Amino acid sequence: MRTSSLRASLVRLIETDGPMPVSDYMARCLGDPEHGYYMQADPFGRSGDFITAPEVSQLFGEILGAWIVHAFEAIGAPERVALVELGPGRGTLSADMLRVARLRPAFLGALTLHLVETSPRLRSAQKKTLQDSGAAVDWHDSTATLPRDVPLLVVANEFFDALPIRQFVRHDGAWLERCIGLDDSGALRFQAGVAALDDTDLAPQLNAAPEGAVLETQPVANAVMQDLAERIAGQGGAALVVDYGYGKSAVGETLQAVRRHTPVSVLETPGDADLTAHVNFEALARAATAPPVVARPVMTQGDFLLKLGLLERAGQLGAGRSARIQDGIRNDVERLAGPEQMGNLFKAMALAPGDIRLTPFDAA
Ligand code: SAH
Repeated sequence: MRTSSLRASLVRLIETDGPMPVSDYMARCLGDPEHGYYMQADPFGRSGDFITAPEVSQLFGEILGAWIVHAFEAIGAPERVALVELGPGRGTLSADMLRVARLRPAFLGALTLHLVETSPRLRSAQKKTLQDSGAAVDWHDSTATLPRDVPLLVVANEFFDALPIRQFVRHDGAWLERCIGLDDSGALRFQAGVAALDDTDLAPQLNAAPEGAVLETQPVANAVMQDLAERIAGQGGAALVVDYGYGKSAVGETLQAVRRHTPVSVLETPGDADLTAHVNFEALARAATAPPVVARPVMTQGDFLLKLGLLERAGQLGAGRSARIQDGIRNDVERLAGPEQMGNLFKAMALAPGDIRLTPFDAA
């Protein structure tokens, strides 16, 4: 059984090396080459564990495609450009964006598509989805191997939430690294480790947290963001990050496990449930500052999609179709942009050199 073997190897590791930081646990559950969540299955869709925005409706990818075409023009329509997607899942978002790109032959002619994806299984799904797209596709294990000689246009949807976070527990005026250890019966449990967070850079209100409070940091997400910002500062380009998260650093636990659309305990089914954490967009924006590149103020997904014409595009898509199809489209719009659904929890953040006008983040 897959689960038991990942659990067994985690237990063995903890027995030999001692309690394991949450970040290691998350990295192993998602990325273990043999048993990691993203390595073994296609988690998306109604029969899978969760549904992402590109899988809800083609509207999402089409609106992001329109954003990318704007960004291509805003950076001066270069002759060559790398279109990059981080964590492309089934490849649906790239396929939908490329359909929009066809409306701008100069863009289509200039681009090569670069997919940053660690899962061999999802890579083959992406290959299949994109086989008729007409684009040349290159895969990368990380951003390190992305081209260095052309501007980058980067999109990432629900990618940063899958990168390992660290957790710290407030104890006696210090933040102790939260770890996974074993209880008397040998089951996985949370416990505070001994290593403490250097809290000198923390906002003062965070250090006023009560005993037992949990604080999360996202070193991997910040490092990826910083790398991209530096690349864009040197090579030109722009990036758009869409994910669930919060705009201001705060104390609180957001690490969650989801299996078949139902929340489960983080420790219950290692490798068989999706593990994610909400993205701290304040920290991400700080990591995205590499002069002249700056992050634009964060927007909700609902605002972002509506400002870029979600309703108009939905109207076109539904024109002349049956009432049932039109209802479906209305439902999808509500799901993507409705404040009670994905509209408010999900955020959009863009970055580019400060003198580039990025719609809809930079007012005309
Ligand atoms: N963007 C897609 C999928 C989101 S799920 C969508 O919106 O449907 C997260 C994706 O990131 C998956 O494709 C997963 O395999 C990939 N991924 C997770 N961790 C990664 C890492 N460290 N490096 C590269 N890709 C990663």
